[in-house]
Amino acid sequence: MPASLRRLDPLLGDAVLRDPDIAATYAVDSSYGASAPETFTVVRARDTQDVVAVLEEAQAHGIPVVPQGARTSLTGASCATEGAIVLNVEALRGIDIDPVEGHARVGPGVVNADLKAAVREAGLFYPPDPASADTCTIGGNVATNAGGLCCIKYGVTADYVKSLEIVLPGGEQIRTGKRTAKSTAGYDLTGLFVGSEGTLGVVTSALVRLIPAPDLALTALATFDSLDEAARAVLALRADRHRPALLEFLDRASIAAIQAMNDFGFPSGCEAALLVQSDRPGHAAEDVERYAATLADLGAAEIAVADNAAEAELLMKGRRMLNYALEAKGGRLAEDACVPVARLGDFVRIGQEISERTGVEITLSGHGGDGNLHPSLFFEHGDVDGWHRAEAALEELLRAALDLGGTITGEHGVGVQKRRFLEWELGAAEVARQRAVKALFDPSGIMNPGKVY
Ligand SMILES: Cc1cc2nc3c(=O)[nH]c(=O)nc-3n(C[C@H](O)[C@H](O)[C@H](O)COP(=O)(O)OP(=O)(O)OC[C@H]3O[C@@H](n4cnc5c(N)ncnc54)[C@H](O)[C@@H]3O)c2cc1C
Repeated sequence: MPASLRRLDPLLGDAVLRDPDIAATYAVDSSYGASAPETFTVVRARDTQDVVAVLEEAQAHGIPVVPQGARTSLTGASCATEGAIVLNVEALRGIDIDPVEGHARVGPGVVNADLKAAVREAGLFYPPDPASADTCTIGGNVATNAGGLCCIKYGVTADYVKSLEIVLPGGEQIRTGKRTAKSTAGYDLTGLFVGSEGTLGVVTSALVRLIPAPDLALTALATFDSLDEAARAVLALRADRHRPALLEFLDRASIAAIQAMNDFGFPSGCEAALLVQSDRPGHAAEDVERYAATLADLGAAEIAVADNAAEAELLMKGRRMLNYALEAKGGRLAEDACVPVARLGDFVRIGQEISERTGVEITLSGHGGDGNLHPSLFFEHGDVDGWHRAEAALEELLRAALDLGGTITGEHGVGVQKRRFLEWELGAAEVARQRAVKALFDPSGIMNPGKVY
């Protein structure tokens, strides 16, 4: 612990993590190549008062603070930096559901899947569902504006956050937004904090909107011999009057990786696969049959339709194995870009062309219904040249996403790894404006420095 913080020692007590081996596990997130700095302190806040105490002292002594949830960030956003206090808030876990207003007040440490399970018992639904839902926290989801598999129908985290309780550097506690169904009083500071990646303050509570629970989803799975046909099918399904609750895309390289793990029934040599679901109360079966007919009209080679929830989950199994299948291939940059949905096929083709030209193996799969793919770029573990070649291929891919009218990140955020690309997307003047906004809330620049900007 830095000398300047020793005053806090008696106050924080066992909130300070003193075992260096355990502390080291809090220094890194899930980004490739993350490593612990030489000096840092981990504080596992027990309550909001611990957060206030840390931010008062950190501001007074100019000590950097890294707010932290479950460390599933893929961009280095929750990694410790030199001399920082890693302020982990996983222990702030309350859930208070108000079924009449249709919202829940949630501690930032609540795991996404636990919130979903708790509100389902009340017949309600919290839609945002990152693929990391079993581990990531609501605080992390708010700070990254997390998306996931069901955004095509339900949107992203920002669409569900009504109000936030935040501790600012210096220890001031503020509340943004309102509990009411609507409010137009003043600027939308809730929107500013959602997606701010811990660079403005620490979220200590979130009031999230809930909706009536849908039915269990049913699934159709289609494979295609042509990428263009698969891309056209995505557009047709989006235009359906009852939009799918999930529309996932797998390219041929992702399918090969999944099949290399186990036989999930994908025919060899197919160019692309789509998974589509409906959860519309009382109409899911009819919807997936209609989606299947659309997929057949648009040239699908093979189609499987699940008429019960267990079968639906079986069809999803290959998709759910994707991350493990890609991890098993070696070193990889697990990436994130989003293009207008109409340019999905172009983006995949450009990725395949970059892969062939550079020799960097690339898979392109993800939330096709949003135009949001998670390219993976591979290299041998420990092969530094290979890693640099993958980084160079990634630059080309992100340039292509921007040229197609897209963005360098659909849902994972900027963190450390995409900092150098931010100005490509926003331009120097916009980055300067955003830095000025940060300075308003964090004049000493102690909040998650080196991340985003
Ligand atoms: C296998 C896998 C699949 C994934 N799939 C998806 C996906 O489908 N969609 C998606 O959007 N993301 C996905 N992610 C990325 C990641 O899970 C999300 O970004 C998630 O929101 C991070 O939550 P966390 O609790 O792990 O936060 P952390 O990684 O701990 O932190 C993430 C950021 O939030 C900040 N932060 C955390 N808590 C607070 C707080 N209380 N106050 C202020 N700032 C805070 C941190 O400083 C950091 O900037 C995936 C990651 C993995 C490993």
